[in-house]
Amino acid sequence: MSDPVSHFSQRAPSEQAPNRVRSGFDAAQLFEKMDEVALCWREHDRLDVVLLRAICRLSLENPGDAEEGFTSPEIVHSVAQLRGRAWSSDNDTDRMSDDVRRYWNKLLATWEVKKEGIIQHFGDCGFGFAPHLDKAEGGGSGRPSRYRIHWMPIDSVSEPESWAGVDVSAPFHDRSIRYICEDIEDAGLSARLFVKGYEMTGWRKWVMLTLVGIPVLFLVLSAAVFLMGFSINMATLEMSVVLRSLIILGGTYWVTHITIGPILNVASARIVLAPWWMQSINDDRLLELQYPPRHPQKAIKAVRYTATCPLCGGAVSTRSGGLEFWGRIVGRCEHAPKEHVFSFDHVTRKGKAFRF
Ligand SMILES: [Zn+2]
Repeated sequence: MSDPVSHFSQRAPSEQAPNRVRSGFDAAQLFEKMDEVALCWREHDRLDVVLLRAICRLSLENPGDAEEGFTSPEIVHSVAQLRGRAWSSDNDTDRMSDDVRRYWNKLLATWEVKKEGIIQHFGDCGFGFAPHLDKAEGGGSGRPSRYRIHWMPIDSVSEPESWAGVDVSAPFHDRSIRYICEDIEDAGLSARLFVKGYEMTGWRKWVMLTLVGIPVLFLVLSAAVFLMGFSINMATLEMSVVLRSLIILGGTYWVTHITIGPILNVASARIVLAPWWMQSINDDRLLELQYPPRHPQKAIKAVRYTATCPLCGGAVSTRSGGLEFWGRIVGRCEHAPKEHVFSFDHVTRKGKAFRF
């Protein structure tokens, strides 16, 4: 089947139970929390995320229909209300179906990236259930496709591989944050090599060492030529020539340092800020050296770590520690990047507030 979403009837029987057995949890609270979580995402005004919020709003407003799901026209109407302006079409049902299907598929891709954090968030809040996206394909005789959020017990959700043995049930305190690891979904050409993880084994290892080694060799040779010239012509050298050579050498070192330095450092530091040519406008991409037994294979992977700020609810992302936290990676809140600052431990995935 080409569509990544299964028909309701194709789900495993154990997955269907929670929605039927409603006792023990308040569905409205779950939908409200999901809406709140999505609002905190950096992508909260992107159409696929608005579509998710629209399903939350529809489920809150029509609790009796939440389990069956909502049709494309209902979702289009709700999206338009949330955005405060029209979307898709008012009366062309085919166009509405196409638009909702397209953004639903985008939402599924976004969901894969966010899933770990969502499950963790619902666990931290004490809900026993985590959301899943579900779609019932329409059939002939005018039966439309329906979209819904389906709730499953957190215990039944298999632990994502990327949690790498992190104890998510460990005691958790205020002023502390728990990071989640997100894959990079919108990588440009330059970062794509590292998005799935660049394996540091066999020929790939040697290709990487060569790519990194050439600029370093060039730099070493430049320094050697400079020093030789300096020693041979010591008597006749003018100060301006020495200065100019020093500036060129320093500039070459600096360019090499910021361009390939992080790849050289990742071996010893295990996790570093990705070089400028891999960054997005948010400067929050990291390069992590992953290796057994915490990860299946030895590889350098481009990742982001994010968390929710316990002080204001904003999105925390990993950035440079700057002069104050020199040489460290820290978590900075989008709302108060200078004040809501947290330590960052990529192994335990925990952090503590530095200032409070
Ligand atoms: Zn904050």
